[in-house]
Formats: sequence, C-alpha cells, structure tokens
Amino acid sequence: MMHQDYNASVWTHIYTDGSSDGAIKNGGSGILIRYPDGHTVSRSLPAGELSSNYLAELTALREAVSLVSEHPPSHAVFLTDCRSAVQSLQSPKEQLERDTQRLLCTLSQSTNVAVQRIPAHCGLSGNEEADRLAKTGSHLEQTRPTVSYSEAKTLVKRHYQTTWNAQHSLPSDDQMPNLQRHQQTILFRLRTGHCRLRAHMHRGLGLSHTPNCPCETGPQTPEHILQTCPLHQEARTDHWPQGATLQEQLWGTKDSLILTTSFIQATKLEV
Ligand SMILES: [Zn+2]
Repeated sequence: MMHQDYNASVWTHIYTDGSSDGAIKNGGSGILIRYPDGHTVSRSLPAGELSSNYLAELTALREAVSLVSEHPPSHAVFLTDCRSAVQSLQSPKEQLERDTQRLLCTLSQSTNVAVQRIPAHCGLSGNEEADRLAKTGSHLEQTRPTVSYSEAKTLVKRHYQTTWNAQHSLPSDDQMPNLQRHQQTILFRLRTGHCRLRAHMHRGLGLSHTPNCPCETGPQTPEHILQTCPLHQEARTDHWPQGATLQEQLWGTKDSLILTTSFIQATKLEV
C-alpha cells in the first residue's frame, strides 16, 4: 500500500522512530532516508537523558526534516508509527512541536511534503531499521546533562532560527503562531499541501478518484484554490480586491493570514 501511494521511484521515504528506557530516560532517535536513486542515509541520535518515547519520536522527526532540508528532494514522505507526533503537527504547543512544524513548512516551499502514520511493527523494513537505529541512539552519550531545560530550549531555538534565516528567505516573524488554533490548522494544511483537497487525496493518499478540481482547469491544490480556481473567483475578489500573491496569502502579515483562512471558510471547502 505504501509503495503504491508514495512511489519509491519518485518519493524519498524517511522513516523515523524513537525509543527510551522505560519510556522515561535515555532517549534515542533513529532516522532512515531512502532516496529514489536507491541510496540511503541513516542516523542514530541521543534524544536526552530524561526523555519520553514521545520526545524521542518527535526529536527523530525534527532531525529528519532538518537533515532532508539540507538537499531538498522533489517529493518527501515522513513515515512514523507515532500517532501523537503526527497529530501534534496540526496544533503544536511545545517548542519542539513548533520547531518541527516550522521546519516542515519551510521544506514544503521547495518539496512536495507528506507525513504519514504507519502501523507499528507492521514488518516494513524501513520502520524496523529506524527502530534499530533509535535503540542504538539511546545508548549514545546523552548531550548536555548540566544544561537546564530552559537553557537548552533557548539554545535549540536560537540555533534553528539562525539556520532558517540563513538558509531560507523566510520571514523571521512568521505570524501563524498568533492565529487562533482552527486558523493555524487551515494555514498549516495549505502550506504543506497535506490536506483534504483532491490533489493530495488522490496522489498522496489514493482516496480521491481524480486529482483534478471540479472546475476542470487543473489539479485541486492549495495554490489553485487560492490563486486561480474560477469556482471561487467571487470569494477571491471579495477578499483581495487588488489581488494577492501566494507568498502574501501563506506567509504574509497576521491580517493577510487571517484573510486567507476567512477565504477558505467562504469557499466551504474542507481543507
Ligand atoms: Zn478549480
């Protein structure tokens, strides 16, 4: 099923997994990347002296996104058996969750990104390998045991902010975190393309018979809905009488972002 949905000759498959001793200490994260040309990259990392399974899972995901972002492929699917890690990306609360979501959003500007939950212990070789890598990671020397939690948080945040700003022309003041939660959800889905529009349901998940919009002028992608779909021209003109670029709609000021969520609500589309 996986290989049908995310054809391995097109999609880079990234398996992530986390583990910890008794679900509380010596966290380890494992990452296995399989590129369409057949070459693989694997990593084992310590996730912290005090670490839940969840923290180790999410650390694996964040590091995997960061690693893949160094040389973004055209298509990348992140495969994890951790349901709560996938759910956290819809409404991130903790810093690590927000970091991961933001890295995914950045990657999605150059890459077709999907995050897919897979059943645990389903015998997928990639998942088993990531599990093995995570167990190796939990035996590595744990980092910075003397740094306090808030210090570590600040360090990580600073490191990622500097890296993002250097590598991407991302506005350093993303306004998405200042929106209401349901607005953030809409925006996150539009930014990543990981949504209920037909292009993703068809190509990504195999759940729609066609990727095309009912207007029959092209695939139903976020860009199509926001910028060109004739079915939503009236709502579009109501919201942006002067027009607006996709960049403004997805990455603009707080007001621009709210306008975008209001437009989506006006279209009555479920994204
Ligand atoms: Zn359309």
